[in-house]
Amino acid sequence: MAARTFPGTCNFYGETFNTRTIVRHLSTCAKRQEFETKLIKNKKAKALSLYHLYVEGVGVFWKYWLHIELPAGASLRNLDQFLRDIWLECCGHLSAFTINGQRYSVSPITDSWFDLHELDMKAKLHDVLRVGAKFGYEYDFGTTTELTLKVVGARESSRAAGGIQVLARNTPPEYKCQACGNEPATDICTDCLYGGEEQPALFCETCAEEHEHDDMLLPFVNSPRTGECGYTG
Ligand SMILES: [Zn+2]
Ligand SMILES: [Zn+2]
Ligand SMILES: [Zn+2]
Ligand SMILES: [Zn+2]
Repeated sequence: MAARTFPGTCNFYGETFNTRTIVRHLSTCAKRQEFETKLIKNKKAKALSLYHLYVEGVGVFWKYWLHIELPAGASLRNLDQFLRDIWLECCGHLSAFTINGQRYSVSPITDSWFDLHELDMKAKLHDVLRVGAKFGYEYDFGTTTELTLKVVGARESSRAAGGIQVLARNTPPEYKCQACGNEPATDICTDCLYGGEEQPALFCETCAEEHEHDDMLLPFVNSPRTGECGYTG
């Protein structure tokens, strides 16, 4: 059986691609090249190394993904903050990257008795990651959201340094209300979702208002953390 593909859009023009075709599109996208040219024209030319990363999070209902580009000299902490801002932050939980078996944590633990030798997130991407490297990330060590990341490519640009740029992102999950079957789902009930039985957990606005667990409803948003802890987008 062919794996299901989850569509997404190029951030420069809004065309839709799937997870297989987006990488090739990004390397040839005319709008992206136009954007790049503008950045270079206005700034003093100086070589800047950039990394292209793919980030993926598998949720209960959907696969969420991002293609981003950022300076290879950015720190893991910079990447951590970006992931929190776009996808994850609910109540300031701990987080950690795992690269080649080494954990890089926001709150590193070193304990030789337990053989724990975590590092902090000061490391720069180009010092710990090469093109092709795959690595993991966890946000919240209780109700954990796990992400997998890959360095898709690297390039030199004569543009000025900037922050982290989103190149492409999955389109929002499209689900109908599981109660009425008509309207788009806007809310997710964490009680019904993790209640152990197969039961409706996605509701439209109208059905959400009538739902018995009104204190367990969270907005159904475009993030692998939707329906977890207190995440509201
Ligand atoms: Zn494009
Ligand atoms: Zn939380
Ligand atoms: Zn409904
Ligand atoms: Zn419920």
